[in-house]
Amino acid sequence: MRIFLGGLFHETNDFSPVPTGRASFEAMSWRPRLQRDVPPSVNLLGYGGALARARGLGLDVVAGPYAAAIPSARAGAPVWAELVDELLGELRAALPVDAVYLFLHGAMSTEGVDDCEGEILARVRELIGPDVPLGSSMDLHGTVTTKMLSSADFVVACKEYPHVDLEAESARVVDLLLAQANARIRPVSAAVRVPMLLIGPTTSGPLQSFVTRLRACESGPGMLSASAFHGFFGADHPDAGAAVVVTTDGDPALARRIAMELAQDLANSALAQGNVGMDLRTALEAADAHPGTVILADRADNSGGGAGGDSTLVLAELLRRNVRNATLGMMWDPVAADFCALAGEGSRLRLRLGGKVGPMSGPPLDVDAHVLAVREDVRQAAFGRGEANMPIGRSAAVRVGGVDVVIGSIRHQVFSRHVFEEHGIELANKKLVVVKSTQHFYEAFAPLGKVIYCDVPGTVTSDFSALPYARLPRPMWPIDPTPPVPAFIHGG
Ligand SMILES: [Zn+2]
Repeated sequence: MRIFLGGLFHETNDFSPVPTGRASFEAMSWRPRLQRDVPPSVNLLGYGGALARARGLGLDVVAGPYAAAIPSARAGAPVWAELVDELLGELRAALPVDAVYLFLHGAMSTEGVDDCEGEILARVRELIGPDVPLGSSMDLHGTVTTKMLSSADFVVACKEYPHVDLEAESARVVDLLLAQANARIRPVSAAVRVPMLLIGPTTSGPLQSFVTRLRACESGPGMLSASAFHGFFGADHPDAGAAVVVTTDGDPALARRIAMELAQDLANSALAQGNVGMDLRTALEAADAHPGTVILADRADNSGGGAGGDSTLVLAELLRRNVRNATLGMMWDPVAADFCALAGEGSRLRLRLGGKVGPMSGPPLDVDAHVLAVREDVRQAAFGRGEANMPIGRSAAVRVGGVDVVIGSIRHQVFSRHVFEEHGIELANKKLVVVKSTQHFYEAFAPLGKVIYCDVPGTVTSDFSALPYARLPRPMWPIDPTPPVPAFIHGG
């Protein structure tokens, strides 16, 4: 069997102050036709999981292009045209194939195109014809659309937030495509929209138990796949919202029944979980009251949701309170990192820190900084697992009052302890560790102490009612408090 693999991955936040261009994708792309090896800084995520499985099964693999960018605003129409032409051009050159697998985000939008994944899948379907199996694995923060489902045989989300199962779910899609290509299964899908936007972790509480039920459901008789998409709060367009997609082996009634049951369950679980965050004052008081190390997640400034990564709101409050024995990472401020490198390790300087990307970053802080470390080569591990291959660029650690602040030059959320430890910061000895991340820090940091999610104003605010939506369908929970009413968008 000959299978084509490709990937185009961008979580687009309509409220992000960070623009997206061709260069945003260049840093995290792989063109197997031109480069034999994956560049060391590229993390293939789901594409990697699918590639390993396809090669492991001994399939005739055509590795197509992979391009990913850190979450940010919509790219312009020319960038989109170039990216999609490259992907489709390589697929066209690879034809005929027996199956196509694509690693996509699910919440990619560009200038003039709300549903990029739907557009890609529709154009791939046009190229390969109606009978060639086509499947995609996506981030659970994707926005599922009718267009995606009417083009692909499998639209599958990872189940966990943090997304520690992206590789495994992607490998499973390859298995399903192989089974379909060999006529062993006949996929039939149903999908239900749940008009809600979730940002809740699956590591505890009602959403964790929901995932357990979701997995049990998926392994039931006649079932091929069950996915719960949480939707993306930064997608300001008419398709936005959560969704459940269920694929069965030739049984549309089963697909419909399970999809609706899971949709109700997802809605109830999310309502029961509510917002897991606290306002900053309450969070710092709770941190104070805890005897050991506290990991404080500054969710609002998560670059992984499209934020600038240079908000000063939490740091300013720590300095105002004269908090001691704390550390905070990672402030995206290439100029400050350059200044620290210029001054050198051990030096002291007046430093203007953060607050530069936009109004949601707060004002810059002018501080007395003691340069603890300067590095050019620090890398972190995606989701806190596996090889540390994601560079943070020129970086520095500075002591400001009682807070050791890590400054990076490549905009990223904090995934792994390398961000701190590679600068000589001993996390186990710290009372307070502030990470600019919503949830992907969890695997690496939760073992250190108590996790507290904190909410301040910012691009990745948990208070969605503060965002200037213009095209979001309403009602939408939790902006509108009425419980969401699930409705079929496919196969109903
Ligand atoms: Zn996600």
